[in-house]
Amino acid sequence: MDRQPNQLRIVVIGAGFGGLQTAQSLSKSGAEVLLIDRHNYHTFVPLLYQVAAAQVPPETVAYPVRTLLRRTRNLRFLQAEVTRVNFAQRQVETREAVIAYDYLVLATGSQPQHLGIPGVSEHGFMLKTLAQAVALRNHLLHCFEQAERETDPQIRQRLLTVVIVGGGPTGVELAGTLVELKQALRRDYPGLDLGTLQIVLVQSGDRLLPNLPARLGRYTTRKLRRLGVNVHLETRVSRVTSTTVTFAQGPTLGTETVIWAAGLEAALPAVATPPPTGAKQKLKVRATLQLLHEPQVYAIGDVAQGEEPLTGVAPEALQQGVAVARNLRRQLRGQAPKSFHYFNKGRLAIIGGWAGVGKIGPLLLTGWLPWLLWLGVHLVYLPGWRNRLVLLLSWLQSYGLGDRPLRLILSSPPLTPPPPSQRLPAIAADRASLDPPAE
Ligand SMILES: Cc1cc2nc3c(=O)[nH]c(=O)nc-3n(C[C@H](O)[C@H](O)[C@H](O)COP(=O)(O)OP(=O)(O)OC[C@H]3O[C@@H](n4cnc5c(N)ncnc54)[C@H](O)[C@@H]3O)c2cc1C
Repeated sequence: MDRQPNQLRIVVIGAGFGGLQTAQSLSKSGAEVLLIDRHNYHTFVPLLYQVAAAQVPPETVAYPVRTLLRRTRNLRFLQAEVTRVNFAQRQVETREAVIAYDYLVLATGSQPQHLGIPGVSEHGFMLKTLAQAVALRNHLLHCFEQAERETDPQIRQRLLTVVIVGGGPTGVELAGTLVELKQALRRDYPGLDLGTLQIVLVQSGDRLLPNLPARLGRYTTRKLRRLGVNVHLETRVSRVTSTTVTFAQGPTLGTETVIWAAGLEAALPAVATPPPTGAKQKLKVRATLQLLHEPQVYAIGDVAQGEEPLTGVAPEALQQGVAVARNLRRQLRGQAPKSFHYFNKGRLAIIGGWAGVGKIGPLLLTGWLPWLLWLGVHLVYLPGWRNRLVLLLSWLQSYGLGDRPLRLILSSPPLTPPPPSQRLPAIAADRASLDPPAE
């Protein structure tokens, strides 16, 4: 990339909540800002579970980064995978290029933590990228198709059992929306008893939503159980295969769908001289968000661990993005960076069945109000007016009419078909009724 003589270059890796906010807050800073991401779009991660549950079209939760940056001259975007960072030489390496920086912001987010449990990485469905959400949607819809023509009751039940591992907001929200999906699909599968669809939510701790007060966790458990979700607390998974999940306490359950929402760890590119890390591989940062031994390098969002205890949500990454941009401007002027303090506006989670929970200041909310607030907040923060409009229409259709418009399976069947002996009779019977009688 060309730059004007003496113009400093700030490289930001990651166009998620933190990185994008940093870049946008550095417009008109005088420095050249290069934002790098492996995707050419920003992913609105909190709505990925609704993509997976066929509630919202995938393109609604993504927005092109170049469109977001096009009004600002000093901001540039590069779609590339960063493979290595070299602090000593102040270089970022991609597969195609080596890019020099004066200041660096690491905002590469997180990735699912498999906790060393056998089979999770091969057979578990993750929910961190748009591609993973679409893959899960295809898989779920494919399971319904297969279950409708399956004659073996054991295999049919396996296809109709969804196990969600992790009782944080993602697990809870997903369980609730799958109940709604089940109700919406009843009319599509008259030959299938969707009452047998089992949604199992497994949590290793003694309550759901551990980052919220215990009362809200208990309310969530009661609400989900009333909706028909099998909630298992203090239960750990010890093994996952393509057709089973085994619990540490002993029993094995037949299922073709294990969704892994049991925690995240920092997603970092390789670093030439690895800096100190804390829990979940997060980079330790000072109060100013600079790395402990690299004053030219900042880390924010899910990849960073500061002095203040944070829980890994989008508003933290957004506020840190603003703070880092302010500190970089100070450094460019020769001033010392300032400490970051998170302002917690509150926390909301949606459960399903028109209910949610929330904590705003000292107020604990349950029922339809936090549910409505959750929808409002996500509608406002989603980038792009067209996306907001489509989201609103999708919600009106799903929450208002109890329907799900997105039934397309956009991939070849991901499941290994059962042996022909178990499948042919049903298919042959269907064919026989469709074929004209032989002369
Ligand atoms: C399923 C799910 C649901 C969630 N729901 C909520 C919610 O309802 N409310 C809430 O506040 N928070 C929610 N969160 C948490 C929230 O999404 C994160 O805290 C937030 O995304 C963190 O922002 P970030 O900028 O650190 O990382 P991200 O937003 O994850 O962005 C990281 C970016 O870095 C890019 N990247 C990573 N590595 C590389 C590389 N080597 N080269 C190039 N690019 C790279 C990625 O492509 C990505 O665009 C949820 C998280 C998950 C997983």
